[in-house]
Amino acid sequence: MARYIAILGSTGSIGVNTLDVIRAHPDRFKVVALTAGKQIDRLAEQCMEFKPAIAVVSEADDAKRLETLLRQKNISTQVMYGPASLVTAVTDSGCDTVMAAIVGAAGLVPALAAAKAGKRVLLANKEALVMSGNLFMQAISAGGGELLPIDSEHNAIFQCLPNNFTQDSSLQNAYLGVEELWLTASGGPFRNTPLDQLASITPEQACAHPNWVMGKKISVDSATMMNKGLEVIEAFWLFGLPLEKIKVLIHPQSVVHSMVRYRDGSVLAQLGQPDMRTPIAYGLAWPDRIAAGVAPLSLTQLTNLSFSEPDLSRFPCLSLAFAAARSGGTAPTVLNAANEIAVAAFLDEGLPYLQIPVVVEKVLNAITESNADSLDAILQVDAQARAEARDLIRAL
Ligand code: NAD
Ligand code: MG
Repeated sequence: MARYIAILGSTGSIGVNTLDVIRAHPDRFKVVALTAGKQIDRLAEQCMEFKPAIAVVSEADDAKRLETLLRQKNISTQVMYGPASLVTAVTDSGCDTVMAAIVGAAGLVPALAAAKAGKRVLLANKEALVMSGNLFMQAISAGGGELLPIDSEHNAIFQCLPNNFTQDSSLQNAYLGVEELWLTASGGPFRNTPLDQLASITPEQACAHPNWVMGKKISVDSATMMNKGLEVIEAFWLFGLPLEKIKVLIHPQSVVHSMVRYRDGSVLAQLGQPDMRTPIAYGLAWPDRIAAGVAPLSLTQLTNLSFSEPDLSRFPCLSLAFAAARSGGTAPTVLNAANEIAVAAFLDEGLPYLQIPVVVEKVLNAITESNADSLDAILQVDAQARAEARDLIRAL
């Protein structure tokens, strides 16, 4: 039976890789909704190829332009715009599976709508879960759907956990023998850069990731290792283990995508090429395994696999994320919001690289609201943290 897919953020790095896997399996997957922010030409091409029922863009002008492009080619896709239409794309397109691949907080509301509606949610948009962990997990269980991680580390852990591992910790028998989750991290492009050179890092340097090709925001997050910090929080919510059982290991080769350590001494790892089509294919077809277009891994051609502890003085963002995770409540929401603003300012060349953690720390200290029980409360804290971060950056 075919799956009906909605892709939130179809024009991004994850979106394009998702369509690449889908393209190879036309009998298994039907695309019913595609959404994008501003890349109208790319979205138009995608609509011409996959003929979804619904396409959504951010702005009214862009919607008009997309509609014109599609009607010229006799494509009858309904074109909509604005944040509320992202929810419509999830709830009214006839999809049973939603790839949540919008970057940042903009993806929260439609991802949450997918969770509530009982869809299979393929989660790439880690920021959504970081902002609203408790609420999001409740929405998944209330909706009765599934949450499958697409982030390569979490997908690796998902593959290495026992089949009957449950996200409901109350049902777990001492976590079924799972002792620790080991998230691997490449360490990004500045793992060995002399500390005194970090001050002059440019956006271009920060976006040149050694192993993965990704969107700009996550590339900067990988350089600062805020990405790994967000992933620790993501793992905490996804797998329900206590924070102290979640460890980070620097593994520059990005071959081992993460590991699970068991109480009998076993460590299970998932290995593969650094290609997001592997976790995407796993999520789309789970529990089946389908071809993903990924080259086989040749272990004999690997010269070295190394693992080490992260240097927290080099990566203060990682410490800030651990601190926010320990504080709980809305601290992760604040961390994420401040980071989004600081990274956007850095990419705009309005903030030096080394000021990213400085801004995040100040905003975390300034906002101590901690009720994360409702979407309204979370969105309010998110807005407050963004405003605070913008003020700080302006004052610098
Ligand atoms: P990207 O910047 O390449 O793509 C983002 C997508 O979201 C685009 O389609 C864009 O049009 C859309 N978008 C952006 N802002 C929007 C808004 N305000 N409203 C509606 N749509 C908007 O990003 P990406 O690298 O594909 O990452 C997407 C998500 O997946 C992020 O949360 C990232 O952390 C996560 N992720 C990405 C990778 C990767 O390899 N790229 C790996 C793991 C996790
Ligand atoms: Mg990752």
